[in-house]
Amino acid sequence: MQHANATVEHRADAMEQALDARGWKPADFIAEQGQLIDEQWLPQNGARVVARAWTDPAFRQRLFSNGRAAVAEMGLTMPLHHRHLVALQNTPTVHNVICCTLCSCTAFTIIGIPPDWYKDLEYRARVVRQSRTVLQEMGLTLPPETEIRVWDTTADTRYMVLPEQPLDTVGWSLERLAGLVTRDGMIGVARL
Ligand code: FE
Repeated sequence: MQHANATVEHRADAMEQALDARGWKPADFIAEQGQLIDEQWLPQNGARVVARAWTDPAFRQRLFSNGRAAVAEMGLTMPLHHRHLVALQNTPTVHNVICCTLCSCTAFTIIGIPPDWYKDLEYRARVVRQSRTVLQEMGLTLPPETEIRVWDTTADTRYMVLPEQPLDTVGWSLERLAGLVTRDGMIGVARL
């Protein structure tokens, strides 16, 4: 039964060899995915979307009615199975936060690859039941009157939080506004 106790590294090696033997070139696939993660699937994409939504009310409306189509206008693509992109608007009285209770799903081509804590069972379980406490532990203390809405991602519906635009940034350029927007802000565990 030694195979049942094989380390993750041994299992990954065994899979890679099995795929290699079939000519599927797993190393090339991994390198390609790594490059996409490092160079293209960056939170800066979502940051540009947020900045545009802050400054262009017609675009914001399109983002709310069909997120996938709206980001495509900006040249941003999503995998086919990410059928819906839903933008969640934060307001002074409503704060949105996203999770994937099953695993690690995000709109990763738009807001970037999820951080390790997002995939952690602790976050996935607790943010649903004890959202206010979890946010507080992560450094975000919300007023007691602010309603917190937690959104559980599914395979085909992906979310991004549209943070509130800081008041003192009205009139800034798109580029400068985008520079304010963080991955954590689009997950909803931070405010700007
Ligand atoms: Fe998931």
